This record gives sequence, C-alpha cells and structure tokens, in this order.
Amino acid sequence: TGPGLFGSRRNSAGFDLTDEADLARIEAARAPHAATLFDARPRLAGPLAGGQRDEIRNPATGAPVGNVIPAAAPDVETALASARVWDAAPAERAEVLRRASDLYEAEFGPIFALLAREAGKSQADAVSELREAVDFLRYYADGAGTLSAPPRGVFTCISPWNFPLAIFTGQIAAALAAGNAVIAKPAEQTPLIATFAVDLMHRAGVPATALQLLPGDGPTVGAALTRDPRVNGVCFTGSTETALMIRRAMAEHLDPSAPLIAETGGLNAMIVDSTALPEQAVRDILASAFQSAGQRCSALRCLYLQEDIAGHVLPMLYGAMDELALGDPWALSTDVGPVIDAEAQAGIRAYVEAARAEGRVLKELAAPAAGTFIAPTVIRVAGIDRMEREIFGPVLHVATFKANEIDAVVDAVNATGYGLTFGLHTRIDDRVQQIVDRIRVGNTYVNRNQIGAVVGSQPFGGEGLSGTGPKAGGPEYLSRFTAHPATHSAP
Ligand code: NAD
Repeated sequence: TGPGLFGSRRNSAGFDLTDEADLARIEAARAPHAATLFDARPRLAGPLAGGQRDEIRNPATGAPVGNVIPAAAPDVETALASARVWDAAPAERAEVLRRASDLYEAEFGPIFALLAREAGKSQADAVSELREAVDFLRYYADGAGTLSAPPRGVFTCISPWNFPLAIFTGQIAAALAAGNAVIAKPAEQTPLIATFAVDLMHRAGVPATALQLLPGDGPTVGAALTRDPRVNGVCFTGSTETALMIRRAMAEHLDPSAPLIAETGGLNAMIVDSTALPEQAVRDILASAFQSAGQRCSALRCLYLQEDIAGHVLPMLYGAMDELALGDPWALSTDVGPVIDAEAQAGIRAYVEAARAEGRVLKELAAPAAGTFIAPTVIRVAGIDRMEREIFGPVLHVATFKANEIDAVVDAVNATGYGLTFGLHTRIDDRVQQIVDRIRVGNTYVNRNQIGAVVGSQPFGGEGLSGTGPKAGGPEYLSRFTAHPATHSAP
C-alpha cells in the first residue's frame, strides 16, 4: 500500500499465505471449482460463427479443465466491424474499471482454481497474479482522468499464457482507460481464464462494443488482428520473435502512426560478488530462477558468481533446491508446478539433454513422472554471451568471474541486446552505483530477488530486444494509448 503516483491509490491487499484464516478462505472458495468444466468462446458484439471446439487440460494432471470454441475468420471480421471507442466520460470509465477490480477480488475462488488448473500456477503465484491484475485495473482507472488526448481507436491486445490474468487484464485496462475499443486475443493455452475475466469486465459495465474477446491461434487470429487497417494500435506481450513478426505486419498494413507497445523476452543476469550475504543471495537466486517454474519474463537465466564465493554459494543453493516441493499446484504446499504444455516441456528437455551430453549439468532435481514437469536444473555456462536464446523454464545457468572481470561481465550482459531485468548482490555501495549506471536493462534489483514488480511502485518493462517501453504500471504508460502521446523511441 502507499499513496502512489496518482494520489490515494492503494494496492490490493491480497492474501497472506502464512495466515491460517487466509488459507482456509482460499481452500473454501476454490473447492467448488476443483472439477468445474469452464467454457471459453469469443465474446463478440455480433453473431458468433466459431471454430472447432477444443479441450483444455490441466498441465499437472492431464484432467480436463474446460472447452474452448476459438474464433473463426468471420468472427475476426465481426469484431472489427462492431468495435466502437468507449465514449463515456473518463470518470465513468474509471468507475467501471474500479468496479471490475472489485469483482476480480470477490471472485478469487474460481480465479485461483483457474490459475492452478489451466495455467499450472502455484498458490503463491496465483495470489500475486490476482493482486497484480486488480492493481492494474485501479492504477489505470486512476490514470483515466489525467489524460487530455482522445483515444486512438481500435486496439488489438495480444497476451501470453504466463500471466494469463495479470498481463491480459493490464493491457485491456490501459487501452480501455484511455477510451479505446479493445479486441483481445489471449494465448492459445489460457482462453478459459481470459473468458472469465472478460465476463467480469462486462458485468462491471464495459460495453460489449468496447471490449471483445477472440480466443484463437496466434498465426491466424492474432496475425489477422495486426494487419487490418481498421486497427489503430497493438499492445503485445510475448516472445521477441512474435513481436518482430507483428512489427513487420503492422508496417505493411497499418497506418504508420499506429503504435506497437511490445513487452518481450529477456536473457536476465544476476551478479553475486564476494561481499554478498550468501544466505540472502541463495534465497533470491532460488525465487528468481525457479518460482513460477522459471516461466516469468523477468526470471533469472544466468547467474554470475564471483569465483571466491562460488564454492560456498553453490552447495547452499543445491541444498535449498532439494527443499523445493514439485507437484500439482492445487496443493497449497507446492513451490514449483509444471511448465505450460508438452511442447514447452519437450523443448526444454532437449536443451537440458544437449547440455548433459557436454557434461554441463551441475544439479538437477527429479520431476514427477506424470504431467508436463521440468525439474529445476542448474547448468554451467562460460558466459551469458554463449546463450543463444531464452530458455523459458526452471533452468538456471551459472558462470563464474574473477574480481577484476566485473566490468567485462556487465559488457557481456549488455551485448546480448536484451535488457529486461538484472540482479545484483553486493555490499559495496559504490559498486551498486557504477553497475546501475552502466547496465542497460529496464528493471534492476539490488540485494533482493528480481521478479514480481509492483504496479505503481516498480513500473516494469525492458529495453532493446526486451521491449519498446513505456513501462507497464508506470505513469507514462497510458499516454501511448491516446492519439497525442508523448514521443517515445521504439528500438
Ligand atoms: P508467444 O510470442 O509465443 O505468444 C504470445 C501471444 O502472441 C499469444 O497470444 C500468441 O497466440 C500470439 N501470437 C503468436 N504468433 C502470432 C502472430 N504471428 N501474430 C500475432 N500474434 C501472435 O509467447 P508466449 O510463449 O505465449 O509467452 C512467453 C514469452 O513472453 C517469453 O518470451 C517471455 O519472456 C515473454 N513475456 C514477456 C513479458 C514482459 O513483460 N516483457 C511478460 C511475460 C512474458
């Protein structure tokens, strides 16, 4: 909580997972939704054509979670033809978004159930994800009244599965707060939570023509929504590769003034020097690399340990890893759930096998036999410059450096071209400032973990290949959704 940038804003209180009463409330509210079959389908301000029904299964257990009817080509046309900017006064839009945030909080039972069953989220992750979604709604609602420029028109919002509620909601809330019409395309893997969330926003009073939902494939439905000249802007979060494809499609088909607000992948590093407190560093490495099964854009991918301390820190890290509970995230005790699907699992497995063949696997836990699990794994790497791509799972790379090599490490991190998060553990104050001045990333975290930015307090977003800016959950974000924004450079 705190006064915030826009006055009296308060962050969502959320739940305290060390409090017995809160745990009991969560269990009671989730229980009726343990086996419910949810439904996802386009939410259109017009008639639905609909594609082939598909089943969504729980990545941890394989059990069905619900069914999705994806959008067919005529549904894309219907959405584009019926989209209308939300012409209510800013104060009214803000009021509706706040009402939506209250509905999100009230519906925590089915939301937590969906986050666990559809997205494989641990309860700790589900709690922070719901809070973030609520915070986005309230923060952008507060921002609505500060905008002087009109909306751009129709915004396409394309989101990833790894924050199927928070990022999905944040994009939509920002575009709506500015008065745009939104057509939202959630990730293929998580249409159920998206449909549930859109229904709450409609219940709160967002007009059907101002917010439409088109679940479906990226290359068909998503692509169609980035190359129709009726689209006036695209808000995208996902991989860097997809962002580049969208940029090309927009350049070819959309008005040149249409913005792409993209938040993409990272190759995130942490430096732990020999003055760091090992116990604290280990706790923060563990959370940064393995929480959410490493499926956070902010997650730590490459740990740089100063040589003199590595022999002390690594055994402690391995010991702490042994304490992690892997399993079905429905169990409140689970620390690490599955990766999102069999395709993700196969890709990460192949990567770990290749490292094993080179003798570079330093530590590996055992994964549950069923479900799409990847056990937390540590792999030796010469440096971040040897990593070709982001491995989106619980795989931590470790490199060591000598005392006189710290500048070279910062150079190597900068040279990746990505710039999302960076962590630093040191007790030398001067070093903090020197490194912060030179590192080119969006969010730097000192002597703490590098995940879980807080809306309104820690605006989040990357540089270079990691994003276009402005940062989500920060004071400049909304202006990009209006017709006369402050100019921002897009990398
Ligand atoms: P992805 O790029 O595969 O998919 C993201 C979305 O884009 C999905 O909805 C997908 O259907 C859609 N899409 C795919 N192809 C498309 C196309 N040709 N045209 C239009 N849309 C298309 O990413 P993902 O696997 O869902 O998410 C993981 C990635 O997202 C990671 O790289 C992660 O780092 C990144 N991410 C970044 C942030 C951030 O804030 N920077 C936050 C979360 C995730």
